[in-house]
Amino acid sequence: MSWRKVLLPAAVTVAVLAGFLVYRAAGHEECTACRRPVSERTATFATIGGHKVLFCCPACLNSHSRQTGNDVNVVSLTDYASGAMISPASAYIVHGSDVNYCARGPVRVDEHKHALDSHYDRCAPSAIAFASAAAATRFVQGHGGHIMAFSNYALKTGSRARTVR
Ligand SMILES: [Zn+2]
Repeated sequence: MSWRKVLLPAAVTVAVLAGFLVYRAAGHEECTACRRPVSERTATFATIGGHKVLFCCPACLNSHSRQTGNDVNVVSLTDYASGAMISPASAYIVHGSDVNYCARGPVRVDEHKHALDSHYDRCAPSAIAFASAAAATRFVQGHGGHIMAFSNYALKTGSRARTVR
């Protein structure tokens, strides 16, 4: 057996593993529910049955709760303006703006290259968290949407998400 037959696969394996580790170290965590990369601007932390879980955004968390019927304890949200972790008990949500970090990606097209309409996305309409009502108001002026307390957002969307104080 030649050394090339041994070293080449080993080198490829090491390179793939190193790439994966760099990707993870760069903060590209994966959403528990939809497996999309989690943006640092919308990361949402919760527990389900005592297990820590990470969601890509509050909208995905609510979709997960509605679909599974699970009680979801929301531990912290990310303030879109600063990137800081904030308590869901005092957070504001902008619901339905034109900003959605999760539902981005290549546009699906039909056989004639016409864009297909998206009928459902678990992260839409978007839900973006803010620490202050003033920052949420400034955001809505540029991107639309409606401001509400996080606790009202969960109730309005039929989720079983509960805030942890
Ligand atoms: Zn998600």
